[in-house]
Amino acid sequence: MHKIVQLYEGKAKKVFTTEDSEVYIVSYKDDATAFNGEKKGTIAGKGVINNLVTNHLMGLLESKGIPTHFVKELSDNETAVKKVTIVPIEVIVRNIVAGSLSKRLGLPEGTKMSKTVLEYCYKDDALGDPMINEYHIAALDLATEDELKKIAEYSFKINEILSEYLHDLGIELIDFKLEYGRTSDGTLILADEISPDTCRFWDTETGKKLDKDRFRRDLGDVEDAYKEILKRLLGK
Ligand code: UDP
Repeated sequence: MHKIVQLYEGKAKKVFTTEDSEVYIVSYKDDATAFNGEKKGTIAGKGVINNLVTNHLMGLLESKGIPTHFVKELSDNETAVKKVTIVPIEVIVRNIVAGSLSKRLGLPEGTKMSKTVLEYCYKDDALGDPMINEYHIAALDLATEDELKKIAEYSFKINEILSEYLHDLGIELIDFKLEYGRTSDGTLILADEISPDTCRFWDTETGKKLDKDRFRRDLGDVEDAYKEILKRLLGK
């Protein structure tokens, strides 16, 4: 499998076409951005870690019945994935209050909630990914009713699988972001990444943040936190 044409360069990844019209190659970068691109930097080794962690977790999810875009890990920072059109919705799953939810509701970070919360954001950088609800999604035809039902079902199941798996590794899954895509035959599958860039991971013992908040908030030890996640998940 080879990269042919670069289709897209995002904040953290590049996407290439391949000789197979149904397969793309994703190449992960060390570049990091936060606050809708206002803060920029690099996190050494992040591309490799996010690639390996994402593939590991996608493999786990596949084994538990979640359809994903994963095809094959090609190298430490490149992976072949199924070609999809991304559903323009960011799905946020929240177990514990943090980040923007803490600000919005005036609740301290770390507040437990009695149920898991699902939020949807409209994927639009120029608008700053505004939060939307099921009615906006239907009114703007962002996803069909059937797709949205599946998105919610998969997202709750993914949360259960990941929370349990990570808890056993001493990691609390606070919240995370998912993206879904449609293959050329219209099948809805999980796409994008699941990594310390897109999840909040807190050490269960110490509460130490092991994710991108260390970069966003200048907490230091950013590279070490990413490395710690790789070590706990893949043992390397
Ligand atoms: N998130 C993400 N991409 C985004 C926005 C959020 O991956 O564009 C993830 C973020 O890492 C966190 C969760 O989604 O794990 C919830 O983020 P929140 O809404 O609290 O926004 P933040 O405070 O990260 O801006």
